[in-house]
Amino acid sequence: MAGSGAVEVQKKHPKIRKDDKVIVIAGKEKGKIGGVLKIDSEKGRVLVEKVNMVKRHSKPSMQTGQGGIIEKEAPLNISNVMIVCNKCTEPTRIESRRLEDGSKVRVCKKCGEPIDD
Ligand SMILES: [Zn+2]
Repeated sequence: MAGSGAVEVQKKHPKIRKDDKVIVIAGKEKGKIGGVLKIDSEKGRVLVEKVNMVKRHSKPSMQTGQGGIIEKEAPLNISNVMIVCNKCTEPTRIESRRLEDGSKVRVCKKCGEPIDD
């Protein structure tokens, strides 16, 4: 269908930011909710608190003299998470709305409330 015309479906990333609450909607971590720790918008990846934990071996450090296994979050594909609205507590899509003073707010498409406090 390449070059078929004017209609171009743009799949925009949800406007997820650090500290947003998100729910995983696909993959083995499906259903888990956590706060966004880090976003890599170039790679389309997101790091979510306590989600997609992987075990890593840490080398013994000079300070503690011991190594061990530590658990750490591994990045998820950003399209596998959805923002959870803190007003209606539903996984939702968000849209940007411009206020009269020109500032932008992110609004929950389900309940219409701004999700930023
Ligand atoms: Zn809502």
